[in-house]
Amino acid sequence: MTIIIDAKEGIDYEKLEKAASILREGGLVAFPTETVYGLGANALLKDAVDKIFWAKGRPQDNPLIVHISSKEMLGMCAEITDERVYMLIERFWPGPLTIVLPKKNSIPDNVTAGLSTVGVRMPANKIALELIRLSDVPVAAPSANVSGKPSPTEAKHVIEDLMNKVDVIIDGGKCSFGLESTVVDLSGGEAVILRPGAISYYALKEVLGNIEYSKAVVEGLTGTVPRSPGMKYKHYAPDAKLIIVKGRIDKRIDKINEMKKKLEFKAHRVGILCFYETAHNFDSQYKLILGSMFDAKECGRNLFSLLRKFNQLGVDYILCEWGEFNLEFLALENRLYKAAANNIVEVL
Ligand code: AMP
Ligand code: MG
Repeated sequence: MTIIIDAKEGIDYEKLEKAASILREGGLVAFPTETVYGLGANALLKDAVDKIFWAKGRPQDNPLIVHISSKEMLGMCAEITDERVYMLIERFWPGPLTIVLPKKNSIPDNVTAGLSTVGVRMPANKIALELIRLSDVPVAAPSANVSGKPSPTEAKHVIEDLMNKVDVIIDGGKCSFGLESTVVDLSGGEAVILRPGAISYYALKEVLGNIEYSKAVVEGLTGTVPRSPGMKYKHYAPDAKLIIVKGRIDKRIDKINEMKKKLEFKAHRVGILCFYETAHNFDSQYKLILGSMFDAKECGRNLFSLLRKFNQLGVDYILCEWGEFNLEFLALENRLYKAAANNIVEVL
């Protein structure tokens, strides 16, 4: 049985204390953050962390991010041997930045998938912060979805995936950012971005001076390498086959309409994922709008929930338009390409 706590209009401390004690004692609590909903377990208890892998069907070799509510908690999880960690914390915490650091022995191996490093983040969402503070332990929390599916950005998505597999789901409304945190590795000297997110390359460069993208991120973006290391698993995938049609606006519109016609001729139900500015070019009852092509934040907030909406519409294919965008769209592009398992049609 799963208890659902409604915190959309504010925190009821009696209920949150209850959720925090369930969390501390080894239960699973799904909670809102500013990125996506997290599925939390006491990061100091191996058996509690095992339940996360069970509930999500998550591969054991995919590490979890540890969420904390204070700088003191950081010392319980990680070694800080690098001044740059303090610079990042000062500037970006609480917020959507995960820092990978050498781990302490208090963190069991299943949290980090056997790695000697741990990813740590202090979320900015008030409910998340208060839950962790009241539980008084660091909280291991991946996204609260069944492994491989789009990440949850509303409590109803968590209910869809994890009802009766977790002890508590806290409903805090829609996530304000809607894509996962930026992950920066500071464990090995060079600062490396392992996953793009809300905190941009430029914002990090401003603080750190030097920073690079990992090979996996770059390869994932060019779309030329079908399976980069970061794409070992299916990620963010809707039920339908998602195909990205990338190119100049007029060309990609023509291509999508042509592909749609062919697929519909074969009796497939075809969804279209497009921008406000181009939507009038597509005639379909299964058309969903990502947002404005000039507003990366809006599009990022909508992506995962629209992918889930296509599941409800029961489409067989989703044709998604894409183009050349600036770095603000990088996190969104990264998730979209992974959701499409790099199924990209380029039109020149
Ligand atoms: P999610 O489970 O969706 O929240 O994603 C967590 C992601 O954080 C993982 O898939 C990794 O990409 C990254 N991560 C967490 N911990 C580490 C670590 N110790 N080293 C490298 N990447 C990590
Ligand atoms: Mg995830």
